[in-house]
Amino acid sequence: MKNFIYATCVFGMFACTSGKQVISSTTTPQQHTTIKDSITVFGETITAKDLSKHLYIYASDEFEGRDTGEPGQKKAINYLKDFYVNEGIASPLGGDDYFQEVPSSYLTKNHRGGKLKDSENVLAYIKGTEKPDEIVVISAHLDHVGAKDGKIYNGADDDGSGTVAVLEIAQAFKKAADAGKGPKRSILFLHVTAEEKGLIGSKYYTEHPVFPLKNTVTDLNIDMVGRVDARHKDDPNYIYLIGSDRLSTELHNISENINKKYTNIKLNYRYNRRTDPNFFYYRSDHYNFAKHNIPIIFYFNGVHKDYHQPSDTPDKINYELLEKRTRLVFYTAWEVANREKRLIVDKAE
Ligand SMILES: [Zn+2]
Repeated sequence: MKNFIYATCVFGMFACTSGKQVISSTTTPQQHTTIKDSITVFGETITAKDLSKHLYIYASDEFEGRDTGEPGQKKAINYLKDFYVNEGIASPLGGDDYFQEVPSSYLTKNHRGGKLKDSENVLAYIKGTEKPDEIVVISAHLDHVGAKDGKIYNGADDDGSGTVAVLEIAQAFKKAADAGKGPKRSILFLHVTAEEKGLIGSKYYTEHPVFPLKNTVTDLNIDMVGRVDARHKDDPNYIYLIGSDRLSTELHNISENINKKYTNIKLNYRYNRRTDPNFFYYRSDHYNFAKHNIPIIFYFNGVHKDYHQPSDTPDKINYELLEKRTRLVFYTAWEVANREKRLIVDKAE
């Protein structure tokens, strides 16, 4: 969605909270001042072309299905690290160490399917300009299920799509920071391992957080956002949101309003119902944050016939849609990171 480049300060609760840049000062304050909205300037650096470029590599056979602890997963973490190094995006661990080691003993203990080798979460971050101790987490899992019977499970949607979305969001925030529009709060870009083995990398992170959980404002978790499920084949402009209203009414309202203002995707809450038999709320990495009463949103396209099959390949991704959904996460993160007050958790459990 590219037709919302120019905006004016006429919006409700978000009016002028997001760092706007005046590009025409020929009008008086009473007139309709034309301004370019910083948020869309940087949001529009997230493109289908870049997402596709990354995903065709990240979900290629070379990465061997990114199975936890295996050589393909090591290639994946190095790809992520190289990206952050090249973009000049720092690691919160310091120096050039972007890997949080998750030891074999921990992985194996938390896995019902036998021994796992040492693995890694990948972390990068941008320090906030005004409230650097408050952390907004944007997460996706870096692993997939490897290869079976000589067939590589590329996991382009699961979760190559979320992984490349995080990269593009990080790049957009970095461009903003370089232009003097860095986020007020810090952003942690968190690529977790061993999701497919039982959400283990995110469990490890939340038990060994680099920033205290009490300072962690939200986790926006992206897991499978590049495809269209059967229910939406004739109307693909949708995304399922899960969990947005469970802990913070404010987060839900921000998400809704940001979407109306910038992306106009149909937000589908079908899987957010507490009675939903799929229990998706408990089935990706955000849950490890939610159980600590950290508000989360899980972005998800639903399952499809290629889910956990060798046929989940990058040629089947809808890149225009992936771009739009990625921008939605970026805009939401931007608002949460830049608003005056920290998100209110009104429904802690
Ligand atoms: Zn999966």
